[in-house]
Amino acid sequence: MTKFERKDFSEEELVRLITTEDAAETEALFAAARKQRQAVQGDKIFAYGFVYFTTYCRNNCNFCYYRRSNDIGRYRKSEDEVLAVAKALIDSGVNLIDLTMGEDPMYHAEQFETVCRIIRTIKEEYHTPVMISPGVVSDEIIDKFAEAGADFYALYQETHNRRLFENLRVDQSYDERMHAKLYARDRGMYIEEGLLAGVGEGPEDIARSLKIMGEIGARQVRVMSFIPQEGSPMENVRTPDRLEELKIIALMRLMYPDALIPASLDVDGIKGLEDRINAGANLITSIIPPRSGFMGVAHNVMDVDEGGRTVEEAAAILSGMGLRIASVEEYQAFLRKPQA
Ligand code: SF4
Repeated sequence: MTKFERKDFSEEELVRLITTEDAAETEALFAAARKQRQAVQGDKIFAYGFVYFTTYCRNNCNFCYYRRSNDIGRYRKSEDEVLAVAKALIDSGVNLIDLTMGEDPMYHAEQFETVCRIIRTIKEEYHTPVMISPGVVSDEIIDKFAEAGADFYALYQETHNRRLFENLRVDQSYDERMHAKLYARDRGMYIEEGLLAGVGEGPEDIARSLKIMGEIGARQVRVMSFIPQEGSPMENVRTPDRLEELKIIALMRLMYPDALIPASLDVDGIKGLEDRINAGANLITSIIPPRSGFMGVAHNVMDVDEGGRTVEEAAAILSGMGLRIASVEEYQAFLRKPQA
């Protein structure tokens, strides 16, 4: 038994663990997180397909490549293209389709009718869970997503420090964002909350965020390290050391044993997978088919066309760690299991 085998850390303890420079203590933290994951789900790791179907956005987040003011090439995929890539991902073995979009005015104008049709097809014809990541939308649109059968609503606050939020998500409302998330939860969807590491937060901010993730009942909790984006106001901010992200993953695992915690291929590509799984992540996100013309977010093309972000590639790495990709049935059983 290690001293980490418990989940009720105080904010003071969290701050101490986030800032510790004791390598042995940090390794013990990761080992305890791995053990916790193993106890909950054995050798299974989940895998999500990523379908970023429109890169148009009405917002100007300072950390984002796709912000409105950035003069970049953009795309908006057709319904058929989205369904074709979703089907290819499902056939390759992913457990869920993550439908992600910028806050594209075109979809707001058409009241998300196309998106709801896509959700229905993936659910009813492809029999696969769906996560929708549409940004902030009205309660009426969230009702439509729920009725179409979306399982998850993903909307990351990035930080729970309101001043920092205003610097990151320029001209957006902290409260509206939180409201949309909680409304989706109350409509019966699982919610995902997320943090961005390395954007000016302090250890106290991270500790508070870790607590809030539990208080709002997030089923999936995420941290990603900031990657500077060309043409954005934060393009000269340095990407942080990954140790902070890894420690946050481990703390989330210990605090929330049944949570879905991503190892995102979007931060460091396929080479970043092993460290994140070793820190206690139980899910691989940002799997994108090669040469599909679809992009990632933080690293929009890294490893994509080379086939590095595939189930096959991830499964080979997991196999060397004594782990395997779960089936969609195993994933659905995990979701249905009552949480500790
Ligand atoms: S983070 Fe999302 S909402 Fe913000 S600019 Fe980028 S795509 Fe738009």
